[in-house]
Amino acid sequence: MSTPGFTGGTLDRADRLRNNAAALAAAFGDWRARLLVLGPGYEPQVTEDGRLAWTGLADADPDADLVLLGLDGDRPRFAQITNEAGGSPFRSPRLLGALGDMAPGEAATYAQARSVLDWHARHRFCANCGAPTAVIRAGWARRCGACAAEHFPRTDPVVIMVAEHAGRALLGRQPSWPPGRFSALAGFVEPGESVEEAVAREIHEEAGVRVRDVRYVTSQPWPFPSQLMIACVAVADDDALTLDRTEIAEAIWVSRDEVRAVLAGEEGPFLPPPPYAVARTLLEHWSG
Ligand SMILES: [Zn+2]
Repeated sequence: MSTPGFTGGTLDRADRLRNNAAALAAAFGDWRARLLVLGPGYEPQVTEDGRLAWTGLADADPDADLVLLGLDGDRPRFAQITNEAGGSPFRSPRLLGALGDMAPGEAATYAQARSVLDWHARHRFCANCGAPTAVIRAGWARRCGACAAEHFPRTDPVVIMVAEHAGRALLGRQPSWPPGRFSALAGFVEPGESVEEAVAREIHEEAGVRVRDVRYVTSQPWPFPSQLMIACVAVADDDALTLDRTEIAEAIWVSRDEVRAVLAGEEGPFLPPPPYAVARTLLEHWSG
């Protein structure tokens, strides 16, 4: 099983510095400190050797707040809060190409930066009282100037899973996807629900299949804008399908041989998920 996309980052997140004013001032003043280069829509620049592009802090907007992403060795790495809202779920062809070009671990740093910057853009006002909030903890929280409530970057858990029955796995195609594109079913974990319960509920809601014996496989951050994808396998006793057509346009049961062939780039009953999607890692695990 390959390493899931957006994992394997090498920065030390350096939580110990975030509330230490002197250490933070030293990091801001460090001549080796670097600022992540991001274009509109949080698009990264990728160098020819697959690295994220960085620049000096002198290029930062003097009025903008910075997030301390962490330390590369002992060299501070920052990203600039741009309050660019609304870009969150958008993935341009250029961004998808850049993700494909990134060396292992670079996409993890990108995911960290993108998710936290996008969170700042959407949380400039207090959810408790509506007053403006200000950046604290080196960019890893915000505090309300009126009611003093503290707000922390959110991560939303999503379960993504295959049901298996008699040696075959259930894949679905969402109505918005192109013909032939199938992947594991997925859905948000709801308040008051375990991962196992969310897996069982989502498969039943979307495909009408009851499952048991949910097994965790792996996870990945998904920075569009801030999901944690929790990949699982579950056992179905029956392969009869009742699809929720608003969620799933088509569903198919595929064998391990079929999945292995598709992942190897051969013709098969479906088009595989991209390399940085945990659905691909999950299918590698299941078929391996
Ligand atoms: Zn408030």
